[in-house]
Amino acid sequence: MRRPLVAANWKMNGSRTSVAQLVSSLVAGISAAGDAEVLLCPSFIFVEQVQKLIANTPIQLGAQNLSAESDGAFTGEISGSMLADAGCRYVLVGHSERRSLMGESSSLVAHKFAAAQQHGLIPILCVGETLADRQAGKTLAVIGDQFAAVVDAVGIDAFASAVVAYEPVWAIGTGETATPEQAQEVHAALRAMAAGRGARIASGLRLLYGGSVKAGNAAELFSMPDIDGGLIGGASLNAQEFLAICKAAAS
Ligand code: PEP
Repeated sequence: MRRPLVAANWKMNGSRTSVAQLVSSLVAGISAAGDAEVLLCPSFIFVEQVQKLIANTPIQLGAQNLSAESDGAFTGEISGSMLADAGCRYVLVGHSERRSLMGESSSLVAHKFAAAQQHGLIPILCVGETLADRQAGKTLAVIGDQFAAVVDAVGIDAFASAVVAYEPVWAIGTGETATPEQAQEVHAALRAMAAGRGARIASGLRLLYGGSVKAGNAAELFSMPDIDGGLIGGASLNAQEFLAICKAAAS
């Protein structure tokens, strides 16, 4: 039995005031999430603020990125140990915006995944194809390469304490969502790839879908057998919209 997970990726958005308003609405409405696990990934600057606001609630805390290094002369970077110390339980690795805009390679993503686990964090590995990849019929090959780069580096057993998010790049922030069938096809393929390395790990591995998930399409997506929740960008900045998505994951 895989517990549904709905993760908010706030990206580089918010202010102390808007974060306080958003989190207080989420705390007030969290019972709507039922048995779904709810996770907030604010910008680093708001991690401590959110940690205080969600203390003594079931809401979990995560970050959007971490350094592959543990400590030392890496100006401007934030390590996994700092995130764990600040109360984070999860961290995103390999989000497509970091792969494409910050030039993060699959090898660096694998190092970050390992660094997260070394410091007791649960990595959420993001994978996804571009529109050009999809149109060229390369979706499963691209996702397979991104997934294998990490499995080859850390071993499949590391995925006993990890999550994978399938986020088609063409669906992120575009309003364009993969159909439930398109998403399910990739999720089933990902689970089969994981099963090829370890059947027990694969059956327990939570696979999230991300890409323009909204209150209006969440239930259909989450009804698919291999979709175990969502990674939510734009819609997670609106408390009522996000709570409705959490409710869809719970039912
Ligand atoms: C994301 O950036 O992880 C994401 C899924 O964004 P959006 O929901 O806005 O498409």
